[in-house]
Amino acid sequence: MKAVVYQEPFRVTVETVEDPRIEQPTDVVIKITTSAICGSDLHMYEGRTGAEPGIVFGHENMGIVQEVGSGVARVRKGDRVVLPFNVACGFCRNCLAGNTGFCLTVNEGFAGGAYGYVSMGPYRGGQAEYLRVPFADFNCLRLPPGDEHEDDFALLADIFPTGYHATELARVSPGETVSVFGAGPVGLMAAYSALIRGASRVFVVDKQPDRLRLAEQIGATPIDFSQGDAAEQIKDRLGGEGTDKGIDAVGYQATVPEGDEQPAMVLNTLVETVRPTGALGVVGLYVPSDPGGPTESAKIGELLFKTGRFFEKGLRMGTGQANVKAYNRQLRDLIIADRATPSFVVSQHLPLDSAPEAYQRFDQRENGWTKVLLQPA
Ligand code: NAD
Ligand code: ZN
Repeated sequence: MKAVVYQEPFRVTVETVEDPRIEQPTDVVIKITTSAICGSDLHMYEGRTGAEPGIVFGHENMGIVQEVGSGVARVRKGDRVVLPFNVACGFCRNCLAGNTGFCLTVNEGFAGGAYGYVSMGPYRGGQAEYLRVPFADFNCLRLPPGDEHEDDFALLADIFPTGYHATELARVSPGETVSVFGAGPVGLMAAYSALIRGASRVFVVDKQPDRLRLAEQIGATPIDFSQGDAAEQIKDRLGGEGTDKGIDAVGYQATVPEGDEQPAMVLNTLVETVRPTGALGVVGLYVPSDPGGPTESAKIGELLFKTGRFFEKGLRMGTGQANVKAYNRQLRDLIIADRATPSFVVSQHLPLDSAPEAYQRFDQRENGWTKVLLQPA
């Protein structure tokens, strides 16, 4: 089959690789209909993670069940399914508590697994024609048959639940004000989720006009951080007080405002933006420690958070991989009921063969390249 394979920093190619097959009785193999490119793939693409050449990318996958292992009870051949990006067993202590982003079974030595991601276990990605899905009864979310809502449902693999998870970590309640840093697909989904949860006012911070326009389109207030300190701009609009809640949907790869020398800015700016005793939801990725010695980016991710101000303001913070499974059924049902249309972020539908160019253009954050869906022919 054809698959998107990482070769070296800033280069992926479409190669013929071995077809996936049932390896465990609890597996299924699905025929991919849509696999999205994620901002998280760019960390590997840019060579920031030590990913080995040969990895097949793709953790945002959906498709049709093609082959079913003998130990699978519920999923049937022909089912249309979306796969939460975290591979999880469903029976370990963390999965039982709903923390499926931290499954203790699937990835020895680490908490949590994912398809096509460095250090997240041996699972091949789905930017390909077929994908093996372990613990299929748990990891497949069934969808209505047909091809309706393909784009909306594809976003249930990661960014819609991840955006929602950010609002859950920050415990966004009706009537609250929320600052979201990053108007990438994840930040836009977090802002959208905050509005679904009844936030009274949502600010979205970025500097890309096309992305800020999308934020405005869903009813959020865009804040351009290239026009001055974002925390000050937001507080000015609220008469000096910060927002109740704050979300980091940027991570360690934050652009540093001109004249400012400090990396890893977003977390510290959020601390300034949120009112004392507020809460932060951090889904932007801070690169984990590298067992072979920390990389430069991991050092940045780990060292520069100003804990003093965080303490002084009595803030709370939640972080980590999104527990997609905890929300994706409910978010699916909002889509089916026409109460949510997350596909407003989708900007391109491209054949798998276009992946090399798509990665390049998405990585450049080219105007109008917000969320790319790859669709094998
Ligand atoms: P993205 O790179 O497309 O979006 C990030 C946005 O942040 C960009 O639009 C960029 O212009 C903006 N930005 C850069 N510096 C900024 C700053 N100082 N202030 C405000 N905005 C700034 O990526 P994405 O796909 O939206 O993902 C966002 C983050 O979420 C990434 O770090 C990704 O790895 C992470 N992620 C985490 C999970 C999870 O489970 N926790 C899941 C998916 C993605
Ligand atoms: Zn993703």
